[in-house]
Amino acid sequence: MKVAVFSSKPYDREFLTAANDNLEQPQQLIFYEAQLNLHTCILAQGCTAVCCFVNDQLNAEVLGQLAQVGVKLVALRCAGFNQVDLAAAKTLNIKIARVAEYSPHAVAEHALGLILMLNRQLHRAYRRVHDNDYSLNGLLGFDLVKKTVGVIGTGKIGQTFARIMQGLGCEVIAYDPQPNHALAAAGITYVAPDDLWPAADIISLHCPLNNNTHHLINPVTIAAMKDGVMLINTGRGGLIDTRAVIAGLKAKKIGYLGLDVYEEEGNLFFEDQSNNLLQDDIFARLLTFPNVVITGHQAFFTREALTSIATITLDNIRYFEQQDFSQMTLVE
Ligand code: NAD
Repeated sequence: MKVAVFSSKPYDREFLTAANDNLEQPQQLIFYEAQLNLHTCILAQGCTAVCCFVNDQLNAEVLGQLAQVGVKLVALRCAGFNQVDLAAAKTLNIKIARVAEYSPHAVAEHALGLILMLNRQLHRAYRRVHDNDYSLNGLLGFDLVKKTVGVIGTGKIGQTFARIMQGLGCEVIAYDPQPNHALAAAGITYVAPDDLWPAADIISLHCPLNNNTHHLINPVTIAAMKDGVMLINTGRGGLIDTRAVIAGLKAKKIGYLGLDVYEEEGNLFFEDQSNNLLQDDIFARLLTFPNVVITGHQAFFTREALTSIATITLDNIRYFEQQDFSQMTLVE
């Protein structure tokens, strides 16, 4: 099957090509660096499938154009699907498949990385030592043991993260509309959101972005949090009202902020922008805080995860070709 692979980077090509070469009947993968949007969907002409990532645009207009050029499958090479207009896809009879699980460890461990970096100020310490400055003023951290960690969403990533934090001796509390009984049996306490905000020293977001969770972190929920709370977002940018978080940082209500995702990351992340002027004033403001660490949507980026993403994506395409929909990880 002919597949147009959008937003493809060298590492996408490497892992997808390696997995494809292992197939008895390899797919015809056509790699495009371009992001999928209304201007680029014409590149999918003649392809039955498109393979997309987190910032490709899959709104009703783009899906309509894809349907017109003959696309019948969108194979997402990511877990989240908030970028897809599912109702439009259904109307157009375009199937949407995703990689529901690749490596929950990759994202959970990155969240831990952000916590350790912020707490022990490793980003500042690294710079100081390179500047021949070995002073410790301003680098004071806290022991993680016995601190309360609040986990929002205990699906595959959230539960992995919860267990890691439990292993470090933290008290872990969680909110999820569908609690995980095994996790509760392992000592993680499920609470209502209103009880989580004031109790947690560290809050980590692992729920999907949808209408219910958009701007979950807002002036009201921030006001309910502990003074000096550490907030970690490796979920999706839209979970956080960035302006409200900036106000929280300025007021010292939020003591630390670790982000791997950002509401307006679509025009920013995954590209070398070092020769461009940063046009996003809100993002620029975030960069001025010493207690904010931002990574460019890299939490998923491990060898194991990319191997798994490539294999599952190609499985989805192959099962679609065989019309064996029950084997696909479809989003419906
Ligand atoms: P998952 O579907 O296994 O788990 C999501 C959990 O969130 C479910 O248990 C669900 O019940 C819960 N949930 C739904 N609504 C909620 C709400 N309002 N409040 C609290 N919990 C709620 O998904 P996952 O594989 O654990 O991934 C979680 C999210 O992480 C994805 O949706 C994606 O946006 C994000 N993600 C980010 C990266 C990255 O590189 N930064 C990589 C993969 C996934």
